Amino acid sequence: MSAIENKEFWFVVGSQHLYGEETLAEVKNHAKTITDALNESGVLPYPVVLQDLAVNTDKITRIMKEVNYRDEVAGVITWMHTFSPAKMWIRGTKLLQKPLLHLATQFNESIPWESIDMDFMNLNQSAHGDREYGFINARLNKKNKVVVGYWGRAEVQKQIADWMNVAVAYMESFEIKVARFGDNMRHVGVTEGDKVEAQIQFGWTVDYFGIGDLVHYVNAVNDEEVNALFEEYTKLYAFDYGTYSKEEWEYSVKVQASYEIAIKRFLEEGGYNAFTTNFEDLYGLKQLPGLAVQRLMAHGYGFAAEGDWKTAALDRLLKVMSHNQSTGFMEDYIYELATGQEAILQSHMLEVDPTLASNKPKIIVSPLGIGNREDPARLVFDGKAGEGVVVSMADFGTHYKLLINEVAASEPTVPAPKLPVARMLWEVKPNFHDGVKAWVENGGGHHTVVSLNLTTDQIVSYAKLVGLEYVVIK
Ligand code: MN
Repeated sequence: MSAIENKEFWFVVGSQHLYGEETLAEVKNHAKTITDALNESGVLPYPVVLQDLAVNTDKITRIMKEVNYRDEVAGVITWMHTFSPAKMWIRGTKLLQKPLLHLATQFNESIPWESIDMDFMNLNQSAHGDREYGFINARLNKKNKVVVGYWGRAEVQKQIADWMNVAVAYMESFEIKVARFGDNMRHVGVTEGDKVEAQIQFGWTVDYFGIGDLVHYVNAVNDEEVNALFEEYTKLYAFDYGTYSKEEWEYSVKVQASYEIAIKRFLEEGGYNAFTTNFEDLYGLKQLPGLAVQRLMAHGYGFAAEGDWKTAALDRLLKVMSHNQSTGFMEDYIYELATGQEAILQSHMLEVDPTLASNKPKIIVSPLGIGNREDPARLVFDGKAGEGVVVSMADFGTHYKLLINEVAASEPTVPAPKLPVARMLWEVKPNFHDGVKAWVENGGGHHTVVSLNLTTDQIVSYAKLVGLEYVVIK
């Protein structure tokens, strides 16, 4: 996961000069206390950096310009300590091109009934300030996030953390570069899309390469590199030779190791952080990349099969948002229709993301019925249990649409000894029949990105930031 560690968020506290310098000094102290507490909470994934108090138009405008200019700043968190007349926020807020969170909080958790006087009222009028400031954001159609509650509470801090991850993913969305090895699978509809519009709306660069460009890199990999990587596999995975001799098995695995090295080198040299393959387009390759793809997914590269660049980019986006935890490319495969047990078996022909594994993956070699190549090595495992979201993106000709279904994944309890691929099993919300019906009626794809780390609210927050139509099924 490259280039996303050094982000920070600026904390801008609104006030005004009406109540004097002494009051402003107090405001600054309170802001410092909150900043320190947030940074020391251990809940936030990125640091908060306190800025000068926002007390007039010039100051606010200067801060927002600086936010736009600095690459390390992923967004702005504002807090109205007191009543901060919002006309002075208009210029800066209009200029701001990064995500904005309005933290509707107050320095004191409770009203001090014994001591409260008019000075205290004037100093701590956050409820007043929130409304004035909220009005201008609403009028400017800012699509900012609002988090409400006492800043010291873990659940409030968690909401800030979730939004920070969305904001960084939004900023990284403009850095997503997909390398496509081959075109889309022939005849398939839902994986198509308007790449120019995707770059305009989401910032995604999508580049095509003939498979021969990759073959050139594969042929340049040497045995020493392959053997070193194979050694790494012995430490991480179980080995299952199945019906193959040890030599046959190792040969197949080492072919995949050479693909892993070659694809990684290709992507690094080109600055790509996502890629696609297509089993119909393997000229010059001995196997469909399987284990190789799974390894790269585990390292944070976005991926989708059959040339599906939209899902590959979405995969990278959600991997950034989730810090590559329990998030990956998936495909709806088989229904379980028995009453009371309704579920959907999730898998792919090889390329299931190991960040979703509940047990130690094992490497096996098995024939692949399509693609007309040698038997490829792949990682096999069972998926994790947990609540999460499954997301699909489709081009409807006039616009893109995002579909979000909440799911409950469970670890499969029955072994499937003849299944040569990793598997995941989940129930869809609100129930199997209504959930599947809504998905199909809305034109949701068979290729998805699933995350047991992210929430519907986070996906929706991103969709709002990029003006993407979305449907939530829950
Ligand atoms: Mn597929």
